[in-house]
Amino acid sequence: MSYTEERNKVEKSLLYLVATPIGNLADITERALKVLSEVDFVAAEDTRNSGLLLSRLGIKKPMISYHDHNRTERGPEIVERLKGGESCALISDAGMPAISDPGEELVALCAREGIRVSIIPGACAAVSALALSGLSTRRFAFEGFLPVSGKERKKRLTDIAKDERTLIIYEAPHRLKKTLAEFCEYFGSDRRIALCRELTKLNEEIIRMTLAAACEYYESVEPRGEYVLVIDGAPEATEAEESVNIADRAAALIAGGMSQKDAIKTIVKETGLPKNKVYAEVLKIGE
Ligand code: SAM
Repeated sequence: MSYTEERNKVEKSLLYLVATPIGNLADITERALKVLSEVDFVAAEDTRNSGLLLSRLGIKKPMISYHDHNRTERGPEIVERLKGGESCALISDAGMPAISDPGEELVALCAREGIRVSIIPGACAAVSALALSGLSTRRFAFEGFLPVSGKERKKRLTDIAKDERTLIIYEAPHRLKKTLAEFCEYFGSDRRIALCRELTKLNEEIIRMTLAAACEYYESVEPRGEYVLVIDGAPEATEAEESVNIADRAAALIAGGMSQKDAIKTIVKETGLPKNKVYAEVLKIGE
């Protein structure tokens, strides 16, 4: 690694995404301190929380709020100020802005308007939990918070149940028990989970067990604090299992009145498998 081309000057007309600690104030970076001290203003999800953070860091700065309920009006206002030559640091309540936090749209708006955006990296709950999980980190899918209820939640659970990548999910403590029960139902109770709790804080804890054991554990323990759930991906289907699944699904669709051609199209869409493979398996039915 070379440090010869560092970007350390705080520039005008630039939006800085500044990561802040997820629980341990000492995780603030030197660059975050510099940028927060030198920008013209700070946009924050919650100006009270972030005001407290800045005062603990010994920084005084004009702040404006940027959150889910005012981002449509606030986004263009921030962009206008940036165009006018000011520099802005965007921070969220904790961790990496724009990751399950407001910011995504502001970055997109800046990109559309030709405003430069730069990153001050640091803590992110999802990546910290993944690294600690002990599960495969080679391929992973970050799901953020799942839809809270209804059809949307069922569909998401059904979709991610098939995903072979390690899953990373944010969850509130009061929903944890219900979510674990649903994971057992949709993913199977043998899958491994790492419940990463209160990361970087005094009570940091990583609980590694199966989903069934996690459900049992939380029958007697009340979930407390902040959690990231990291779950093993779906086991890879063997060739033989895949053929049986395709054949079963095709037979059900055809029995329901669908043509063979439409059944193939449907299965390709559902599974993402190559069309020629599905076609070959469907042709075998009734051989
Ligand atoms: N943008 C932040 C990030 O990526 O680090 C995440 C913000 S999201 C609104 C808040 C969620 O992140 C919490 O509900 C929890 O799931 C997770 N989280 C944040 N801090 C955590 C911590 N110290 N330990 C475990 N999970 C944490």
